[in-house]
Amino acid sequence: MLIAAIEAGGTKFVCGLLESSGPERDRPGIIERAVVPTTTPAETLRSSAEFFRAASERTGQGKPDALGIGCFGPVDLRPGSPSYGSITATPKPGWRNTDIVGYFGRELELRAAFDTDVNAAAYGEYLWGAARGAKDFIYLTVGTGIGGGVFSNGLLVHGLGHPELGHVKIRREDGDSYEGACPFHRDCLEGMASGPAIAARWGTRAEDLGPDHPAWELEARYLAKALACYALVLSPELILLGGGVGLRPGLAERVSALVGEELAGYVPPLAEPKRLRAFVARPSLGQDAGLYGAAALALRDRRHD
Ligand code: ZN
Repeated sequence: MLIAAIEAGGTKFVCGLLESSGPERDRPGIIERAVVPTTTPAETLRSSAEFFRAASERTGQGKPDALGIGCFGPVDLRPGSPSYGSITATPKPGWRNTDIVGYFGRELELRAAFDTDVNAAAYGEYLWGAARGAKDFIYLTVGTGIGGGVFSNGLLVHGLGHPELGHVKIRREDGDSYEGACPFHRDCLEGMASGPAIAARWGTRAEDLGPDHPAWELEARYLAKALACYALVLSPELILLGGGVGLRPGLAERVSALVGEELAGYVPPLAEPKRLRAFVARPSLGQDAGLYGAAALALRDRRHD
């Protein structure tokens, strides 16, 4: 089966053509992939659709059999809603009310399996990555923004919309006077701990801050506060920490230790040092987690048809 998968991100759309030849537990292979910069919706969507047409022709396998999309949010995931499949309240200029599912559905003549980029990545990690076999876990990405997919009792969590783990309020650290970068809430987690927040607070891009810079201890403290909150509310067995900032060497380990301090022994399994160390881990699908995740959604929906 040929799968068209799209990781629709705020800075780039990663498009891939994948081939699945065996059962769902075998990870499909990426035959072709392309990165399309996220500029205007018209330009980005058109270039993405063109990639799939050209790639299908090159491979000689005809048009894809299934389509999966993981998209930056917030998105409308309510079945039956008039704006289902659209990006909603994004501060990203021009992208509000962009109908992602409708566009690619028409262009590729396929019904899209659709979810947030982070829910998709979580599902990919569950099928083929670091969360294989876990029934309750969280995939959190910390980069340009902060977002999380929640997998609970074997299913991705939806509801009124989808979880927005990056926008929880966290207690400010003593001595931190940075106002916060979130256009909606100022000093929510994303406003205090995203890549742009780090850059604005310290005047240097996050990737240029050395390992001993105090920015990293502050970052670990903010993330640990949020993760301790997730542990109390959602009771995950595991939290995968991804994204450009989240994958920083040593950060997951430091966050794990600080989650233990935040919880102060109140969640007994996490009072065991070995369990606590394994609580925050790195995703294993790397750069292609979003792409595999989108393919995983497509396979899941085909199974349910
Ligand atoms: Zn916010």
